[in-house]
Amino acid sequence: MTDFAATRTMFQIPEGVIYLDGNSLGPLPAAAPARVAEMLTREWGDMLITGWNRAGWMTQPLSLGDRVGRLIGAGLGQVVLGDTLSIKVYQALAAALETRPDRRVVLSDSGNFPSDLYMAKGLLKTLGKGHELRVVPPEAVAEHLTEEIAVLMLTEVDYRTGRWHDMAALTRQAHAVGAATVWDLAHSAGAVPVDLAGTAADFAVGCTYKYLNGGPGAPAFIYVAPRHADRALPALSGWLGHDAPFAFEPAYRPGSGVTRMRVGTPPVIQMAALDAALAIWEGVDIGDLRRRSVALSDMFIAQIEQTCPMLRLASPRDSARRGSQVSFYCDDGYAVMQALIDRGVIGDFRSPDLMRFGVTPLYIDETDLRHAAVVLADVMTNRLWDRPEYKVRSAVT
Ligand SMILES: *Cc1c(COP(=O)(O)O)cnc(C)c1O
Repeated sequence: MTDFAATRTMFQIPEGVIYLDGNSLGPLPAAAPARVAEMLTREWGDMLITGWNRAGWMTQPLSLGDRVGRLIGAGLGQVVLGDTLSIKVYQALAAALETRPDRRVVLSDSGNFPSDLYMAKGLLKTLGKGHELRVVPPEAVAEHLTEEIAVLMLTEVDYRTGRWHDMAALTRQAHAVGAATVWDLAHSAGAVPVDLAGTAADFAVGCTYKYLNGGPGAPAFIYVAPRHADRALPALSGWLGHDAPFAFEPAYRPGSGVTRMRVGTPPVIQMAALDAALAIWEGVDIGDLRRRSVALSDMFIAQIEQTCPMLRLASPRDSARRGSQVSFYCDDGYAVMQALIDRGVIGDFRSPDLMRFGVTPLYIDETDLRHAAVVLADVMTNRLWDRPEYKVRSAVT
């Protein structure tokens, strides 16, 4: 059994704050400052350039990748870290398209994160082979899976509503029509159980600063199924994906397996923070986490619906179809969220009218959610949000 009272003490959350935005940026792991300080002084400071070997900086994208892999059902040596998620989406889609050279359609859905769709568009234009990006409503994905489709590219859990695609079923169906799959696990890794090997997914990507708590700017990850790993040709052929980076050969030769998805120098300081964040997961059973996430989310929804009848649930009511966040529609959602934040309850807002609350059992419990619901009811019932200063939009919402 996972000890969630213990994991809660492993985060440093300011006094008086209820943090319901771990779906967007996880909080600071209590061990991270010391780990980062150690990296700065004992590794960078004392070892200087020898840290690449002596402190293992060069192999960390793979060793940390293995630790992320354990949380998403990947085997050892199948996940590597680096770059940002947008870059990893580009790489994964490019490699997936290589496996289906005779097809020209990428299928995605309107619930996908805009950056994934922007990157896909940019890639398809660069390829110059007349590829089409076909974006359909999330509930219509299955019926649009035809033999025209080269790649099915989806984000498993919707960043706005938390709607959870059936990855196993859609992957099976994609394979049945001869399409490859790219799954974005940005809102899955550390949030819901993921079984990449079991679902036979082809490629997967995700970030480590949301539910995995690696900190702002933490590197993304990419998974390549073993059957593709030595065949996928990297679209971004950087030197660290080369078979022998320090041979400095004039021509590119891809490295073995997933290492070929590396591009350039890894973010070592950032990886130190992630190292501390991943240590917390060593004592966590994902099944336990999921059960707790469902119980907490169901409780939060019931409470809000009882005290705030003016809010409409945007997330699936059926927990089996919902990830680890709860969203509500609210026309004045931006101002309401600012009023909440002012009162120590931190969630976020997604245009045009969505308030999101991340449910993260590692550091959130029933008492927090009950209190958050009481504050929200107060803000709604007494229109505490209706003040000019709550309506001024910041750059990041
Ligand atoms: C958070 C998120 C991103 C962000 O990409 P970055 O390149 O890391 O900024 C991309 N896609 C999805 C689905 C996300 O949830």
